[in-house]
Amino acid sequence: MAKRVAVIGSGVSGLTSTKCCLDEGLQPTCFERSDDIGGLWRFKEKVEEGRASIYQSVFTNSSKEMSCFSDFPMPEHFPNFLHNTRFLEYLKLYAKHFDLLKYIKFKTTVISVRKCQDFSTTGQWIVVTESDGKQESTMFDAVMVCMGHHIESFIPMQSFPGIEKFKGQYFHSREYKSPEGFQGKTVVVIGMGNSASDIAVELCQRAKRVFISTRGGSWVMSRVYDDGYPWDTVFHTRFSNLIRSILPWPLLKRVYEQKMNQWFNHENYGLVPQNRALMKEPVFNDDLPSRILCGSVVVKPIVKEFTETAAIFEDGTMEDNVDVVIFATGYSFSFPFLEQSVIKVENNEVALYKQVFPPTLEKPTLAVIGLIQPLGPIMPNAELQARWATRVFKGTRTPPPLSLDPASLWFGTSRSQTLQTDHIEYLDELAEGSDARPRILPLLLKDPKLALTIYFGPCSPFQFRLTGPGKWDGARNAILTQKARIIKPTRTRVVRNSSNNSLVSYLLKIFGLLALFAAVFVSLQQS
Ligand code: NAP
Repeated sequence: MAKRVAVIGSGVSGLTSTKCCLDEGLQPTCFERSDDIGGLWRFKEKVEEGRASIYQSVFTNSSKEMSCFSDFPMPEHFPNFLHNTRFLEYLKLYAKHFDLLKYIKFKTTVISVRKCQDFSTTGQWIVVTESDGKQESTMFDAVMVCMGHHIESFIPMQSFPGIEKFKGQYFHSREYKSPEGFQGKTVVVIGMGNSASDIAVELCQRAKRVFISTRGGSWVMSRVYDDGYPWDTVFHTRFSNLIRSILPWPLLKRVYEQKMNQWFNHENYGLVPQNRALMKEPVFNDDLPSRILCGSVVVKPIVKEFTETAAIFEDGTMEDNVDVVIFATGYSFSFPFLEQSVIKVENNEVALYKQVFPPTLEKPTLAVIGLIQPLGPIMPNAELQARWATRVFKGTRTPPPLSLDPASLWFGTSRSQTLQTDHIEYLDELAEGSDARPRILPLLLKDPKLALTIYFGPCSPFQFRLTGPGKWDGARNAILTQKARIIKPTRTRVVRNSSNNSLVSYLLKIFGLLALFAAVFVSLQQS
């Protein structure tokens, strides 16, 4: 009999986990507490208890070719960066195409997940769910936890003395929905992540004054990268990754800083990260520097203290008559339905083998999917985690070890970095686990065009469907046509005989590469 798997949540991770179970011949039952799929990507006017909450204007900050599932490219007419409604549309297309809805139990909340008494031999779990006020216990052979990590708001009250005296309004960014109601207000947004930047930029068109107060600063990147391509399709190539991995750290740091400052000088805009060497998730915001330049958003250091009406900043400056403070200070996560002996979260850190399997379980029958913060799109990572986990459940992959090497754990140096992973390295590691890692050298002999596109082109998810048990016949074509899909939605006015600079740009690239290799060579000689 096929193994039964409980999938908790029907967002990005839950949908792909359900599909991966089906691909491996397992029997999934997906439990979703709300009445529809999409998780974080389903915008609601009102914040709902236990669900992630986004603001109306959220766009993806990873592009469509990089953030689709590996056997289901996004429609070619979709823009490169998607409004949340478009991304939800894609998830619905995915669910429909793979006929996933029939495996989802909506309005069903998971109350507890407990090991069966004979867990050490069977690896089975008792899952208690609640629907319409009625509780039900069901036994499962495996569990996939797919609940995301943007549900519990984190407000570090102790870091903001006086906030309890503040007479204006204050709330977490999770509560922010739109600029409606902020007309004429003075707003202080705390934090320098993507939420803080998006909210400050949006509010400054309505509010009287908007301040963004940051402790650590951040690199700010545009979604528009070299030659106008989406940033991630240029940044995340195997070739650039190799260059990044072989460059000596001091040189890489310089190159990285220079690249980040190419658009605007972060120091002059008060944004430069305190720890510049930290490869922390940058902010993606095309408007922030321009809003700062226009004076509509003013960057301030962290708030030292609040009074009844004012914010006093670390540099001694003060802004009085503040109406609203928005804490865009990130999220915490926990697993309320699991015992601490299964997964323990401390200071926003959780020790999981390859960010998926709890290392203390006698049987590897519980996997956490999507609890990561890659410097890239989360979707292909979650999908590969699910492909690997379902193969472990099925018994076709070696189970993970029963303990963790502490040296393999890296939680970053700040709270918002505890889940960070290196995009391509991590994808390759997971793909190894599901026999899906592309082998460039043999491919170079067999199919040089494909091998070169894989190596020099965007490291898109289709690369992980070329071989192995989850092979998809459309993968090769999807890789070779991705550039056309990137251009299609922007090249909406075609001018015949427009000037062709491609040869010049090609020569410049070769020249740049030679210069880079020379720099590596010189720095290696010096070290
Ligand atoms: P976040 O990335 O975790 O950023 C939290 C911010 O709060 C950081 O700037 C952090 O500063 C600051 N902070 C935390 N504790 C603080 C303290 N005690 N005092 C002062 N500042 C403090 O949270 P987020 O911006 O809500 O984003 C959450 C995730 O959602 C991110 O992965 C983000 O990329 C994603 N997101 C995506 C979009 C989009 O796709 N368009 C939009 C919004 C969010 P330090 O860094 O100095 O600790």
